[in-house]
Amino acid sequence: MEVKKVLSDLKRRFPNEPEYHQAVEEVLMTIEEEYNKHPEFEKYNLIERLCIPDRVFTFRVTWVDDKGQVQTNMGYRIQHNNAIGPYKGGIRFHSSVNLSILKFLAFEQTFKNSLTTLPMGGGKGGSDFSPRGKSDMEVMRFCQAFVTELWRHIGPQTDVPAGDIGVGGREVGYMYGMYKKMALENTGTFTGKGLEFGGSLVRPEATGYGNVYFLLEMLKTKGIDIKDKVVAVSGSGNVAQYTVKKLISLGAKVITMSDSNGYIYDPDGIDEEKLAYIFNLKNVQRGRIREYAEKYGCKYVEGARPWNEKCDIAMPSATQNEIDGDDARALLANGCFAVSEGANMPSTPEAIAEFLNAKILYAPGKAANAGGVSVSGLEMTQNSIKLSWSREEVDAKLQSIMKEIHAQCTLYGKQEDGYTNYVKGANVAGFMKVAKAMMAQGVL
Ligand code: NDP
Repeated sequence: MEVKKVLSDLKRRFPNEPEYHQAVEEVLMTIEEEYNKHPEFEKYNLIERLCIPDRVFTFRVTWVDDKGQVQTNMGYRIQHNNAIGPYKGGIRFHSSVNLSILKFLAFEQTFKNSLTTLPMGGGKGGSDFSPRGKSDMEVMRFCQAFVTELWRHIGPQTDVPAGDIGVGGREVGYMYGMYKKMALENTGTFTGKGLEFGGSLVRPEATGYGNVYFLLEMLKTKGIDIKDKVVAVSGSGNVAQYTVKKLISLGAKVITMSDSNGYIYDPDGIDEEKLAYIFNLKNVQRGRIREYAEKYGCKYVEGARPWNEKCDIAMPSATQNEIDGDDARALLANGCFAVSEGANMPSTPEAIAEFLNAKILYAPGKAANAGGVSVSGLEMTQNSIKLSWSREEVDAKLQSIMKEIHAQCTLYGKQEDGYTNYVKGANVAGFMKVAKAMMAQGVL
């Protein structure tokens, strides 16, 4: 494989998809050496078959707002690769959603799901609909309209969606309700469901907790204790909230959180009581992070990201490309020695290069945030055996999966000088499993 040629072909065939190109480039650069050890992969053109999604559904979603006006949005589902199991990946509702963003997410998801040790392929979907500022009834009508198109393409053995940005328990509940009505079945197609109708304990917590478990594994390799470490977190949604919750319980000091308008800096640290305020502010009131600064009298910086604040550890948990080269240099200059990604692809290629050159502990999202989809996989298992596991059982499984993902990254990522390149480790480990499965199943 010649990475440059593969990339230029993809760019020619799929122009104007920068996030997709970025994700593919990052993976190909790191798997090239391993790939080229297997001439059989090249013979079967594995790389193009792995980069280009199996299929892409695009549809119009039509719904009626509270004023009685008819609205349209775009809906998408990318079924990227099902070599090791049913397509699996979240649904994103955000005004920025387009084909490029969903293709990058579905591509990443394929490797992430491979790393989890569970039998799940990769997919992703979403819409340019933004739930922000919409009433409950508007969100419900939109979710129902979205699923009346999507339902025919998904199912418990074919494609199992979940949440992502803008899609939490409320949206999954509305979508699953409509899905059941259309499909006349109750087999759990969708994860992140409410506990009363097939959801798994620890699913809401899983991505954030899993990221902290992965961080602990990285810190262990250096003999560093998390207690009293200063952590900068971005975002204030599902992933950020539970990342902060776990960090507080372990004695770390979280000094920042953010939303798409700006970030708060609380030098005293966000404690349990303040975090409860954020849960209510974001999940019930659906307010802005600025209100935290007003309530607790701390700094709020409008239109900025938190990476200039001094911290030991950074845990980006908002969105893609939220740490650029300058942010990475600012973090390093301030002594940051570990970055563990809750979000998908939050660091730009320039930022990643800075972290790797500085040889800090750096965990890419596809490894560090795989706890979410892992517990989604456990939710699928519980749905199919029609049993619910206890919180302790699910949490123990999550911890052991994160340990195993860390071990796989180390296996393929450890360099001769002892530094672990988790980017390479995650990409090669994720890739090898999918590649072997594809080879075994013939040319499809
Ligand atoms: P939520 O919608 O719950 O929260 C997203 C947070 O990020 C909000 O605080 C939001 O602010 C902020 N945000 C969103 N877009 C932007 C932007 N363009 N610029 C700045 N801030 C932004 O989503 P999740 O917490 O579920 O997802 C966060 C990240 O984690 C995403 O990258 C997602 O793909 C990834 N992830 C999520 C998993 C899950 O289980 N939920 C699993 C694995 C990865 P605002 O409220 O202003 O919109």
